[in-house]
Amino acid sequence: MKVLIANLGSTSLKWRLFDFSDGQERLLHKGGFERVSDYPKAIADCLAQVKDAGHISNDGDLAAVGFKTVMARGVTGCVRLDESVLAAMEAFNGIAPAHNPPYITGIRLFARRMPSVPLIGLFETAFYQWAPESAIRYAVPEAWHEAGVRRWGFHGASHKFIAERSAELLGREDVAERARQLYTNQGRSPVQKPDLRVISCHLGGSSSITGILNGVAIGTSMGLSPQSGLPQNNRVGELDSFALPFLMRATGLSLEDAEKALCKESGLKALSGGYNDFRDIETQAGQGNPRAQLALDVFVHQARHWVGAFLLELNGADALVFTAGIGENRAATRAAVCANLDQLGLVLDPERNLALCASEGVISAPASRVKVLVIPTNEELVVAREVRRFLQHAPALARSSAASQPAATTHSPSFQT
Ligand code: AMP
Repeated sequence: MKVLIANLGSTSLKWRLFDFSDGQERLLHKGGFERVSDYPKAIADCLAQVKDAGHISNDGDLAAVGFKTVMARGVTGCVRLDESVLAAMEAFNGIAPAHNPPYITGIRLFARRMPSVPLIGLFETAFYQWAPESAIRYAVPEAWHEAGVRRWGFHGASHKFIAERSAELLGREDVAERARQLYTNQGRSPVQKPDLRVISCHLGGSSSITGILNGVAIGTSMGLSPQSGLPQNNRVGELDSFALPFLMRATGLSLEDAEKALCKESGLKALSGGYNDFRDIETQAGQGNPRAQLALDVFVHQARHWVGAFLLELNGADALVFTAGIGENRAATRAAVCANLDQLGLVLDPERNLALCASEGVISAPASRVKVLVIPTNEELVVAREVRRFLQHAPALARSSAASQPAATTHSPSFQT
């Protein structure tokens, strides 16, 4: 069974092809294009590359194309991406303006190119379905909550990968199995005592921190939209809701300009004076640029704020995990997040930390009660595994055209908003 995972950005297309034949799990091919302006051509070129590499002879050799879809009104989990789901994603375009529109466009183009290949999405919100109500509610009027104004959480594929892999590395196969089966049995796999408490720090162009108890999320730094939590590369992160009406009244700022500023001109880019790549910000800070240093300091402050929140919520932690572009590669940021936590049982080993880059390993001191791990994330693999499971559970869907499909089919409970 060959599954292509397509990662769609507003100007990029990246893909990975997995093969699940014979009970194996193999990455066959990966590639990508940046600065894409002609999406149909980019999709055609992607499929041509996969064919030229000898992995498929025609589109029909793909069992499915999978997508790391972000959010949709009333739908989460792993679902067939028919028109009703795309309409539900469109309903949340205003919450995820940088994410949903390119996915919707790209998915429709894939559907046109290969009408008989199932297109399946694993929503980034899926991992938070079992978080306690107290961790997801905002104190807003009930009607706002019913309209979808609540904490949804994102980077679900990445944090699920960390939940599973950290449990494997810590020798807790029971918890790893619960994380593996989460979307099929809603976290009902039995686990042993003691509890396994993990804080997962996905720090990259987009960042979030999630508390995980026995493989299940108990809360996360991301809120209603991907413009929440830590400062993102060019998206705002946490902001008091009254900033907007205040500015709009005081300066005549329009809603459109406010949205654009929050989605494209804020976050680390705004703080640093124009740099949204962490490497550039660190270089600038090293050269004495005070705004770049401030951007780093705010980022670390926010990260520690959320690590602290989950340390309290989980009554300590067995592991603190760093992942994604910054978490996997930037030893200085990891050191800053972990600084001065010895009274909480967390001590980094500076040499191990400096030595570890883009690979898996432990960076805490041997005596540290909290293990600090670096785990390269693998979001595409998580999506591919769920797509395979979806096809196995819904074989009737595997080979019929999108047009003939019923409305959204979930194999984990949908949110009703
Ligand atoms: P991601 O969104 O996970 O791809 O992470 C992107 C962020 O991670 C950018 O701000 C990069 O500066 C940073 N990053 C990615 N790769 C590296 C690397 N090899 N070394 C240093 N920073 C990196």
